[in-house]
Amino acid sequence: MTPAAPRRRRSPFAPQVLPDGHRHFSHRAVLARRAVLGGLLLSGVGGGVVLARPAGEDPETVAATGPAPVPPSAPPDPPQPVAPVQTQPTAVEGPSRTAADSPWVVVNKQHPLQPREYAPALAVVGGAEVAAVIAPDLRALLGDAERDGVVLGVASGYRSYERQRAVHENAVRRDGLDAAESLSARPGYSEHQTGLAVDFSGRTRPRCLLEDCFAQTPESDWLRAHAGRYGFLLRYPEGATAVTGYDAEPWHWRWVGTDLVQRLAGSGTATLEEFFGVSGGTGYA
Ligand SMILES: [Zn+2]
Repeated sequence: MTPAAPRRRRSPFAPQVLPDGHRHFSHRAVLARRAVLGGLLLSGVGGGVVLARPAGEDPETVAATGPAPVPPSAPPDPPQPVAPVQTQPTAVEGPSRTAADSPWVVVNKQHPLQPREYAPALAVVGGAEVAAVIAPDLRALLGDAERDGVVLGVASGYRSYERQRAVHENAVRRDGLDAAESLSARPGYSEHQTGLAVDFSGRTRPRCLLEDCFAQTPESDWLRAHAGRYGFLLRYPEGATAVTGYDAEPWHWRWVGTDLVQRLAGSGTATLEEFFGVSGGTGYA
């Protein structure tokens, strides 16, 4: 970032970050975000973000929230088929992409964890629980960053199935199904449940915690330059919502190991879905 660069305005739907690292979206913020998502849909970007799934399809959620009210005079919506990103499976030698404890596991809205209640062996790094398998690399990353004068923290690591269920149910109750699901994964579908994903915080701009403006911090610059050497991949890059199912999250890094980071870098693809030829996207399977 140059000194002349304009400071980015806080997003109109910027959430309030709660002490537990989760985000609270005001009603106004949710409306703003809906408006933005609606614009994206109309412009053909991120197709199927929220309209792709017929309302009330998911019995669990309907049971929690009740069916969406439909005005009696409204014409029925035409069916909106889910259009997951389909690619050809790629033959890549290496660890499993479906085993929940594999460093290469792909978890997205098309591919839940198996079993859905999976829980990894845990370790505590930076005050947060993460999968034990990533602890050495994560500790090395944090220590080397600090030696470079960059203070990173672990805002969120492992999140259990039960914890994710509570987060998701609260979000649906508060914001409605569509708005909630553009932000919050269903339990069993969150990469955080593997323990392999880390949301980093930075010291220089605390207000950018879990915010788009984290991308303009020195901590983000350091991660982009060095995190790959510790096996971490920027999991939700800019412009890949239709592939990953999530908007850009510059703070969310996924440990996959250095071997896969290098292979991805040499492949010209940025996402696990594209590299492996695994389906993804914004609609749930
Ligand atoms: Zn995350």
